[in-house]
Amino acid sequence: MTNDNLLTIVNEFESPIYVYDAQKIEAQYKRLTAAFSEVKQLKINYAVKALSNISVLKFMNTLGAGLDTVSIQEVQLGLTAGFKPENIVYTPNGVSLSEIEAVAKLGVQINIDNLSILEQFGSRHPKTPVCIRINPHVMAGGNTNISVGHIDSKFGISIHQIPHILRIVENTGMHINGIHMHTGSDILDIDVFLYASEILFDTAVHFKSLDFIDFGSGFKVPYKAGDIETNIEEFGEKLTERFKTFCKNYGRELTLAFEPGKFLVSEAGLFLTQVNVVKQTTSTVFAQIDTGFNHLIRPMLYGSQHEIINISNPNGKERFYSVVGYICETDTFANNRRINEIKEGDILAFKNAGAYCFSMASNYNSRYRPAEILWHNNKAHLIRQHESFEDLLANQIEITF
Ligand SMILES: *Cc1c(COP(=O)(O)O)cnc(C)c1O
Repeated sequence: MTNDNLLTIVNEFESPIYVYDAQKIEAQYKRLTAAFSEVKQLKINYAVKALSNISVLKFMNTLGAGLDTVSIQEVQLGLTAGFKPENIVYTPNGVSLSEIEAVAKLGVQINIDNLSILEQFGSRHPKTPVCIRINPHVMAGGNTNISVGHIDSKFGISIHQIPHILRIVENTGMHINGIHMHTGSDILDIDVFLYASEILFDTAVHFKSLDFIDFGSGFKVPYKAGDIETNIEEFGEKLTERFKTFCKNYGRELTLAFEPGKFLVSEAGLFLTQVNVVKQTTSTVFAQIDTGFNHLIRPMLYGSQHEIINISNPNGKERFYSVVGYICETDTFANNRRINEIKEGDILAFKNAGAYCFSMASNYNSRYRPAEILWHNNKAHLIRQHESFEDLLANQIEITF
């Protein structure tokens, strides 16, 4: 996608707008599968919550991905997009037994992350295969240290509770077919991840009829200059070797699964916005754009730094700007950032806008959520219209006084 392509998209479909490059998604998918090409049975389940547009899901299906879902609604989106139930994993946290039962009934692989539901589900449906989400209590401490933490994380069943798990499995006669972890730990630090994997392997040997081991995600992508990214190739080599040894000792070839969200879609996305006002104060030059944290909340929620480029003036002299939004709330996207000279009306592009951007958008300030474009085969495909006034009122009920 060239700057001209992007400016044409804004002209045709209005700003603000999300644009995703299908080719980049495919390249990331292929990079990951190539790194694990020596694994006989590899399954990449795309984490729907990162970007859940149905056309993006359909594109993932053409690549051969499965899906990782966290709600029954995401499961239904996946089924609607054409995924087979057996290619969907459901990894909820803190949802009701009835929702888990409803998803299991659809034929989707369920993944349970607490003892209470495990026992209830196992007693009622001992024949339904269940995966167990483990909390290995591992996180990166500093750059290279391995430290034990997350003891109070709400996710997963603690490895210290394995005896409880085994008792439940024995008492209910339930069928455990997978072991899973998703620590969110940083695979930048490959050694930390491999350390957590050892804990997963140690857990797995307790279960005799496994089909797969799911290593979750944690793949990092660069957001700003100087960020390093996961060395997927080195990671693939090391984990593959370890996995092969495990399978040999286990006595059976298992499937190795991952569930990346950010890695597949983050860098494929751009968020295009227009500058409404350039406001010079005594200390700062603000570039105020036609969006806010209602459309892109990561900088305010997580302190994430999305690189911002002025695609209307890519060769202009660099100056310092604070890029802020238009909602009535502090919504700072960038503080005193060096950007090519900005004029009112210019189009600014936010990078890394594929993951957790549109999917976290809201209607705060009664603004419409933006449109989405999938750039595929050198063509802009509208995959979501921007909202209209009717959408704002949908489901609201006017009573008379
Ligand atoms: C969110 C989530 C993922 C995806 O995480 P990324 O950092 O986007 O790769 C994977 N697995 C589970 C269970 C999740 O909740």
